[in-house]
Amino acid sequence: MNDIIAPLECDTLVIGCDVVTLDGKKTVLPDGAIAIKDKRIAWIGPAAETRKHVQASDVLDAGGQIAMPGMIDGHFHTAQQLLRGKLRAMVRDAPLKIPYWKNYLIPFESLLSPEDVHLSGLIAYTNMISVGTTCFAEAGGPHPDEMGRAALETGIRGLISKSTIDKSTSIGSSVPDNMMMASDDALAANVALVERWRKQDQDRVKACLSLRQIIVCSQGLLQDMSGAAQELDVKIHTHLCEGTYEIDYALEHHGCRPVEYLESLGILDHHLHCAHSVLLSPNEVDLYEKRRPSACHCAFNNYAMGAPRVMEMWRRGIDIGLGTDGASTFGTLDIFRVAHATLIGQQAVSGTPWHMREAMLANETLEMATCGGARSLGLQDQIGSLEVGKRADILLARQDRIDQLPSYDPLFTAANNVVGQDVQTVIIDGTTVMKDREILTVDVDRLKHELTERLPGIMTRFERMVA
Ligand SMILES: [Zn+2]
Repeated sequence: MNDIIAPLECDTLVIGCDVVTLDGKKTVLPDGAIAIKDKRIAWIGPAAETRKHVQASDVLDAGGQIAMPGMIDGHFHTAQQLLRGKLRAMVRDAPLKIPYWKNYLIPFESLLSPEDVHLSGLIAYTNMISVGTTCFAEAGGPHPDEMGRAALETGIRGLISKSTIDKSTSIGSSVPDNMMMASDDALAANVALVERWRKQDQDRVKACLSLRQIIVCSQGLLQDMSGAAQELDVKIHTHLCEGTYEIDYALEHHGCRPVEYLESLGILDHHLHCAHSVLLSPNEVDLYEKRRPSACHCAFNNYAMGAPRVMEMWRRGIDIGLGTDGASTFGTLDIFRVAHATLIGQQAVSGTPWHMREAMLANETLEMATCGGARSLGLQDQIGSLEVGKRADILLARQDRIDQLPSYDPLFTAANNVVGQDVQTVIIDGTTVMKDREILTVDVDRLKHELTERLPGIMTRFERMVA
């Protein structure tokens, strides 16, 4: 695939794997090799040619496995990691109060200390790596610097951001005082976060801006944050069109739908990263295509909110990736499973009603989880596919389990028959962070011990708060 004359001296050579590149041509290279130098992919070619082309100090035998780009979780709540399964356990068979985020999630975030968020981050990012996720985008939570610290320690790539609320509404529970900010303070804290992480001597973990939701952010803050995003050239992570209450709220207070409201303010542009994006009218999908905000489809939650038109958005070239929305509702952080749920969901929403048997192909949802996620975060030049020059964010997954055999086409297997637990080895920014399922960056047993020690105290406070 590459022409080089003298043997390339590289840091790591991954050899013997079927390389599913997910490049523009969807190239699959059987029995291939990937050379990594200075954190980037320096060469991809047949394993048989490595002797001629590459000299490596470290050789990683990936015999029989699939090498593919790391998964990208485009919408994640670090500070909700310890709520996995908790809400359902608390109320058992009773319905949860909607909207969850205002009634349970923000109250929970409000009682976490910086140390609690650091622990949540260590557990969450280790969990992500263990299922093949190499990059996350934090939706906006408390103590974002602690998230960044945890991301640096675990070795994951990420975009951190701060929960940003400057307005109260009567929908759901009232926002705890420590989660509210004056508009000026909210803007200043967001800008300072971005600048603080920009100054760091590393480029794996960075910060972006955040606006929680239009119903809890004032018009002035929306506009000022948009100005800051243009000046800093960073994303604003927000939630959009995620519930009927939000549409009704926008119609009542602004006389138009949520996306139309952002358009009317002149702030609907590529800096906005809009999680969920479910209840979009035809006009609003047109606005996404025209103004280029990015979207994130959180399949496990989105089909409870409406009928998301993911296939249409993807095929119209809108930058859309996949996300878990954190562990608090469905529990899994496995983006492979999110991709599979997306496929089934889109079949039900966009195929079956018209007697169309295969609305989307699994290849497309796999691309959405990788290249789509990268595009949605503005990182398409760095990650999202295995190509020379891109950052070496690579996962190696088994394809020899009885549940995966026979395997005729590694691309089919990667898209349909690989789940997070099949991932054996993960490389992020050229560094091996998990090898043969052993996490190399943090002590997992110590993490579990710390969780056992700290969890009861946190949950007692939470139960008292939402009782
Ligand atoms: Zn969310």
